[in-house]
Amino acid sequence: MACLIDPFARPISYLRVSVTDRCDFRCTYCMAEQMQFLPKRDLLTLEELDRLCSTFIRLGVQKLRITGGEPLVRRDILHFFKGMSRHLASGELRELTLTTNGSQLAKYAGDLAAAGIRRINVSLDTLDAAKFTEITRWGRLQQVLEGLDAAKDAGIRVKINTVALKGFNEDELLTLVEWCGREGHDLTFIEVMPMGEMGEETRLDQYWPILDLRAKLAEHFRLIDSDERSGGPARYVRLEETGQKIGFITPLTHNFCESCNRVRVTCTGELYMCLGQEDRADLRAPLRASADDAALEAAIRDAILRKPKGHDFDYSRGKVRGQMPRHMSHTGG
Ligand code: SAM
Ligand code: SF4
Repeated sequence: MACLIDPFARPISYLRVSVTDRCDFRCTYCMAEQMQFLPKRDLLTLEELDRLCSTFIRLGVQKLRITGGEPLVRRDILHFFKGMSRHLASGELRELTLTTNGSQLAKYAGDLAAAGIRRINVSLDTLDAAKFTEITRWGRLQQVLEGLDAAKDAGIRVKINTVALKGFNEDELLTLVEWCGREGHDLTFIEVMPMGEMGEETRLDQYWPILDLRAKLAEHFRLIDSDERSGGPARYVRLEETGQKIGFITPLTHNFCESCNRVRVTCTGELYMCLGQEDRADLRAPLRASADDAALEAAIRDAILRKPKGHDFDYSRGKVRGQMPRHMSHTGG
């Protein structure tokens, strides 16, 4: 099998693709309320997205995660998922999945399951309807809860992603853990990352270190460290009392880069070799230059050879260092 290996001997087997920069929510840590979205012609078409993902799969990508913006607000996105399911059927792709805010799940869960999606990540920071609207600005909790029920009915496993936000959801730690336990969802907490131009002060105000969160959890449960790794930034523990698996994503507390197996493509076809660095390669030009995939394949191979060793995020000494000017919705997290 063709394989993409970076200069630090890391095989690249995981691709995350953002299919839109648009979203029906405006989460305060992710987007400004008034966003200037890209003109449609700049976005890869669904056919281009199919060629791009299929090329990566030919080169050895085994796990594909679709994200955004909100992937399920892209028109006809189901058509793309149905197309990708042929790579699951052939066995080349091991997992097709997505990260979503859940707002459109009630509509799509059944079709996603039929396309071979077995697990999804759903972002949810609070179970309080008023706080949900405060943090997402435009979202309605009830709609997401209905979407989660639909996913469950369709047999899709759910992992809830919760951004740890100081003074916002600190008081819901146990409620969230218990609710996920009852619903049968996995749960991962994410440290807020310095993405987008939101000002140092806001970002530091929101920063609730995962180490603090973990310590608070340990006051109520016995945490058993798990060796399980996904090649990504998540570390897992098991709660002895309930058997639940809880993940922590701590890009700022830990350095996880040594086992990084992933790259990201934006909705305009820019390949980012590292979430925390600016270097990128344009894949839209080779995609549009010819119907043949040779130039695209060469551009991908060339870019992987430039994958950096790691990111430079750092909140130490009360300063935000290594801050990236782009928003999370640009690369899809
Ligand atoms: N709209 C989808 C969603 O919300 O799941 C997918 C895209 S969203 C950008 C992907 C993930 O990034 C979400 O779990 C969101 O909470 C997270 N995220 C956005 N901005 C973030 C930030 N500044 N720090 C940490 N996580 C962030
Ligand atoms: Fe939209 Fe997801 Fe960003 Fe929230 S985190 S604004 S749901 S893209």
